[in-house]
Amino acid sequence: MLIVQKYGGTSVGNIERIKNVARKVARTRDEGHEVVVVLSAMSGETDRLVSLAHEITLSPAEREMDLLLSSGERVTIALLAITLNSMGYPSKAYTGRQVGIITDGIHTKARIERVAAERVREALNHGIIPVVAGFQGISEASDVTTLGRGGSDLTAVAIAAALKADLCDIYTDVDGVYTADPNVVTEARRLDKISYEEMLELASLGAKVLQNRSVEYAAKYGVKVRVLSSFVDGNGTLLTGEDEDMEKVVVSGVTCDRNQVKVTIVGVPDKPGIAGKIFGTISDANIVVDMIIQNVGQESLTDISFTVPRADVNKTREIMAGLIKDIGAHELGIKEDIAKVSIVGVGMRSHSGVAATMFSTLAAEGINIMMISTSEIKISCVIDAKYGELAVRALHRVFELEK
Ligand code: ADP
Ligand code: ASP
Ligand code: MG
Repeated sequence: MLIVQKYGGTSVGNIERIKNVARKVARTRDEGHEVVVVLSAMSGETDRLVSLAHEITLSPAEREMDLLLSSGERVTIALLAITLNSMGYPSKAYTGRQVGIITDGIHTKARIERVAAERVREALNHGIIPVVAGFQGISEASDVTTLGRGGSDLTAVAIAAALKADLCDIYTDVDGVYTADPNVVTEARRLDKISYEEMLELASLGAKVLQNRSVEYAAKYGVKVRVLSSFVDGNGTLLTGEDEDMEKVVVSGVTCDRNQVKVTIVGVPDKPGIAGKIFGTISDANIVVDMIIQNVGQESLTDISFTVPRADVNKTREIMAGLIKDIGAHELGIKEDIAKVSIVGVGMRSHSGVAATMFSTLAAEGINIMMISTSEIKISCVIDAKYGELAVRALHRVFELEK
């Protein structure tokens, strides 16, 4: 078999752990498989690099941020290839550019346009284990780009798709996908399998065990993905197509996303074209808006609230300052201490009363709901950040996810 193995930050957090990864890769080779390895930076390294830049300015040039952040993965791939070579397993490390991960030019959240992977194929043909830097690519203009936080998962899936690999194993610090973050809810249960669609929602709503775009990409190209622990052996969780069993379960998982902030524009003139102008300006800056609420207007003025990624808060603040004057709105408010709790499950399509149960459960805990959004298979509520964990536990209990 051809297997792509991706190891996350904790799994390569120090030399001892890199040696552990090398032993796992070597074992897979010894079993007769071809292996391509994709690595993250050491845990904490990407955050450390972000804070270095933030010591200089809160709105650093994004092209240079990408160059800076991509350096973390160079360190780990080189160290792993050095380890494998010293163990007698020929290996070569490659950056995103060297393996031809071609992206668009949207810095800090570039999208993959194509994957050449010629050098990876060439290495495999010569019995060399390729070790690829996750999270990074190269734009048509030859600038280094990054794929958004957690983007090494996407690198692994994209390489697996390009090579038509039999399996893409994501090794991390938990032994699979759980009904809730196992580090928050001790009763959370590991799922043997989960549908791509549910996993995509969970990942998009805060379950960082897989990056959301990696799940989208895996579904699109039919990549067989497993989530496993790099520290303990086990079967992990397999991403599969939906089946009948899954429909029977109303809620499959609960998540909490702390990576959004709420922006409110107070006193917006209530007339046609204003919303288009606000959200057009934001989208021109490549900021993705999630939830939107517009209050009922009074005296031809209204308030509009929406959420944007925390990473874009400074950029949003700058853009909004100009826009507020432009459209004649009164003021801008940004609330950073919010959390978005969500329940996800394909069974919601065929069960009623799920939203009511969610709202009354939060109410019973004294938690106020600031914003709500729903889709066919998920319900999300924005609440005060300090109640995030409490809400996740209460929802996990009421929908009996531990069973
Ligand atoms: P890596 O560095 O290996 O990419 P991440 O930190 O990105 O690892 O993702 C693993 C973490 O995801 C776990 O430590 C866990 O706290 C968190 N997590 C959140 N939700 C879930 C979930 N539903 N199932 C498993 N892990 C989850
Ligand atoms: N090192 C990057 C990050 O911390 C990418 C990854 O770990 O997947 O976001
Ligand atoms: Mg990750």
